[in-house]
Amino acid sequence: MILTAENYFSPENQLAYMGASQFKSFLACPAAALAEIRGEYRQEETTALLVGSFVDAYFEGTLDVFKAKHPALFKKDGGLKSDYVQAEQIIQRIERDEMFMRYMAGQKQVIMIGEIAGVPFKIKVDSFHPGRAIVDLKIMKDLEDAWNDAEGHRCPYWMNWGYDFQGAIYREIVRQNTGDTLPFMIAAATKQKTTRLQIGQIAPERLDYCLDIVKHEAPRFAAIKRGEIKAERCEQCDYCAETAVLSEIVEYREGA
Ligand SMILES: [Zn+2]
Repeated sequence: MILTAENYFSPENQLAYMGASQFKSFLACPAAALAEIRGEYRQEETTALLVGSFVDAYFEGTLDVFKAKHPALFKKDGGLKSDYVQAEQIIQRIERDEMFMRYMAGQKQVIMIGEIAGVPFKIKVDSFHPGRAIVDLKIMKDLEDAWNDAEGHRCPYWMNWGYDFQGAIYREIVRQNTGDTLPFMIAAATKQKTTRLQIGQIAPERLDYCLDIVKHEAPRFAAIKRGEIKAERCEQCDYCAETAVLSEIVEYREGA
């Protein structure tokens, strides 16, 4: 089947292909990732996600269709809710910046497929500049470092959100399709009261490192999707909380 904008996230294609977000979901909690693929669990479509998609749709030139598909964007009086009014302000800020606009001027939402360690992967590039760069647009709360539980220290935002894994997967699939190993760039704009803009490039060595982890983990995640291996639970996320069954008493003691 040919992947299109319409069927990119269809249950069949989520099962057939691994994508960057799906890979990150598996890294965080295999049980939740699998439940989501099987349609047994749905991550809430948060306002934060919708704001990002709103801006994506604008740059793709499909904002009208996007608005028609998402009545949740509007208040009762037909005006946009404040989060999306802010999204429009972010768009206006971006449009005032020549360099940001140059990075956003590539081919929009380019879909490619490939294989990593024998596992079929799909990617969708926000702004693709053939032979030059892969650009992903991110609408962030801010660009500050934050505590990272897994690392045990504060880390840069792009690491906390796994954009290095996304970059590794995108760069590799683009390479397989075009023969070019391109820089993975993030065009970031923030939702702060006054929007910050930044064009970042994730260091190629970091992408190499992440690609090694993808090669190592993707076959196991694919086997979980095929039902050959049991999906471990993280016991930390909302899905694990929702499906937890109590079986023991926790003893509360001072200093324990
Ligand atoms: Zn979990």
